[in-house]
Amino acid sequence: MVLVIAFRIPGRHPASTTTVWVIDYHARHYIEVIINPSAYEHSVVQRRVGTVSDGVSRSEGSVCSTKNTRIHAAELERVTLNIYLFLTWEAQLFTIVVDRWYPAMKAARYYGNQDIRIDDVDEPTPEAGEVVIEVSTCGICGSDLAGYLHDSHGDGDHLPYTMGHELGGTVVDTGEAEGVDTGTEVVLNPLIACEDCWCCDEGLYNLCRNLTVIGAQRPGGYAERVTAPAGNVVSLPDGVPTWLAAVAEPFAVAFHALLQSPLRSGDAVAVIGMGPIGLALVQLVKGMGAGRIYASGHREARRALAHDCGADVVLDPRETDILERIRSETAGGVDIAFDVTGRESGYNDAVKSTRPNGHTTLVGVFEGAIEGDVMDFVSAQRSAKGSAAYQTGPRAGETFGAVLQKFASSEVDPELLVTSRIDLADIAEQGFEELANKSERSSASSRAEPDDSESGEVKILVSP
Ligand SMILES: [Zn+2]
Ligand SMILES: [Zn+2]
Repeated sequence: MVLVIAFRIPGRHPASTTTVWVIDYHARHYIEVIINPSAYEHSVVQRRVGTVSDGVSRSEGSVCSTKNTRIHAAELERVTLNIYLFLTWEAQLFTIVVDRWYPAMKAARYYGNQDIRIDDVDEPTPEAGEVVIEVSTCGICGSDLAGYLHDSHGDGDHLPYTMGHELGGTVVDTGEAEGVDTGTEVVLNPLIACEDCWCCDEGLYNLCRNLTVIGAQRPGGYAERVTAPAGNVVSLPDGVPTWLAAVAEPFAVAFHALLQSPLRSGDAVAVIGMGPIGLALVQLVKGMGAGRIYASGHREARRALAHDCGADVVLDPRETDILERIRSETAGGVDIAFDVTGRESGYNDAVKSTRPNGHTTLVGVFEGAIEGDVMDFVSAQRSAKGSAAYQTGPRAGETFGAVLQKFASSEVDPELLVTSRIDLADIAEQGFEELANKSERSSASSRAEPDDSESGEVKILVSP
């Protein structure tokens, strides 16, 4: 049982009373009392009992939502903690002695290969220039899954740690940071650039030589709250809810990739790989006025989604010779291709699907070297370019801002990618294990192909 005492301090409430919430986050109950702190014995002015859920039910008319019952470090410092409270509830006398505040919150921490646990961890406190975000949802990313399955995040030095870098939420503590207000609904840009290396000097912050990532080198979003530099939060436009903002991150990866390609309206496009980023790319290239869009993916559920996202032709590369199909329907190939698989076969399909002088943008993350034919480029004068994440540093709002505008204007539909929303407590079973079906497990090498066993999941959003 976790008892948390939260205070609404005098000055924010009718004079001479203090509102106190005693919250048991495990049982999800709270007691709310309004007391007159000058007379302990008969101090209870009003008392009510309620349930802490996703914001206490409105019908109770309570001021006690999960948002404002969670009191934050800066506010606590202004509260006297040596308080004796006598609360009578259901004929029992509770004596609650608060002589020290132990801030704690829930976080899902990674302990190593396929081992993720829900822990009580210290409440994060913002450093200079940082804010605290109360997490609404955090998406499970392919990179987190790879870390979970193949121990690729395995760095014994900083285990256990909290993963999660795709998150939306509300700023609840601004510390000494300027430029962002408490209560602002935001999405996190998880990449922190050093602003000191030659890449940063040239404004290529996504290529920073000393990049750190929230959710990798520092605690991430599979937690109730997370800290971030104020410059790494991007406020949400009207109409984009915090829970959906988590999906802005994979869209930002896709949009940055699109900006690396010489796409012109009317161009035929192939997107190879129908994970969240591939599906986002299909929507984005459609919105940018692409001509015929070919999509290729192994999983049936995702191919069905590719149609919904705007692909004209959706192919299973195990059943169809996709190169022959594309070449026969276009002038020798597509103008622009994207590899979003990070697999040898996906890379080769992407490059070879382009017409002579065509271009391939490489977005997928490979786990090792692969085989390809350099003559694909030389003899047909093709080109290829990699794409790394999205802008950050002083430009942290650029890619995310553009994506959020597309969300707000309905140019793209991020909800199409969201296949499940789960509680933090279920992150291992209903999150990682659900995504980590046999196909992912068997394909530890980038040359292996997924088998037929498949999960229908695309993007799972985790709510603390
Ligand atoms: Zn991600
Ligand atoms: Zn740098």
